[in-house]
Amino acid sequence: MKPILSVQDLAVSYGHIEAVKGINLTLNEGEITALVGANGAGKSTTLLAISGLLKPTRGKVLLGDADLTRLSPHKIVQSGVVQVAEGRAILTTLTIAENLVLGAYTRSDKAEVAKDLAWIYSLFPVLQQRKEGLAGNLSGGEQQMLAIGRALMAKPRVLLLDEPSMGLAPLMIQEIFRIVQEINRTGLTILLVEQNVRQALRIAQRGYVLETGKIVLADTGTNLLHNPKVLEAYLGG
Ligand code: ATP
Repeated sequence: MKPILSVQDLAVSYGHIEAVKGINLTLNEGEITALVGANGAGKSTTLLAISGLLKPTRGKVLLGDADLTRLSPHKIVQSGVVQVAEGRAILTTLTIAENLVLGAYTRSDKAEVAKDLAWIYSLFPVLQQRKEGLAGNLSGGEQQMLAIGRALMAKPRVLLLDEPSMGLAPLMIQEIFRIVQEINRTGLTILLVEQNVRQALRIAQRGYVLETGKIVLADTGTNLLHNPKVLEAYLGG
């Protein structure tokens, strides 16, 4: 197990309110790490700080030995840490193909970009079938697929996923979790934020539980699934 991304004593505030209170996280290369916790625990804030969209008040984000903490969001994407936003944020008036190509805006390796596009279409056949259609006409689950596909077009080393299953129908939730696993099998490291705690811990090698801005548990996904505290607080006893 080789650490690829580490968060050290990270704290993030909104005005006077400290939403994340000095947390430590390590992602091992090639693993899915789940970050779970209740509404308002600070999960999204943590992801936004890792991707540079919020500036931490203290602490560090390291990718290997490189310090990402003070870099712009653009540079962080370029260095290989790419977030799929909560709420998806796709460009609804552009086609599916245009959305995907935009994901590769930081890249100049054209041949590799074309290969990745073909791979993404194989992961999400529905996107290929409708590639000339407007992204705004996709269902919620298909938009989530497009948002993941667009992030993959940036050729990430670490993919940050914020609640990919949110608001989706049960079958689509299963499909999204299956795809997250399939992407991970290609060797991609994933940080998965989820309120769907059971499903997230099932597919994650490791997990962290966040409560009011602090990490209260860190363990393997399997151990967390059977941890009495997790069972009681997040899995209905
Ligand atoms: P959710 O699943 O609801 O998104 P979360 O675990 O991702 O929850 P955050 O969204 O990170 O939690 O929020 C952490 C805390 O920061 C909460 O108390 C929230 O009310 C507060 N917060 C989040 N965004 C802002 C903001 N823009 N301004 C002020 N406070 C905020």
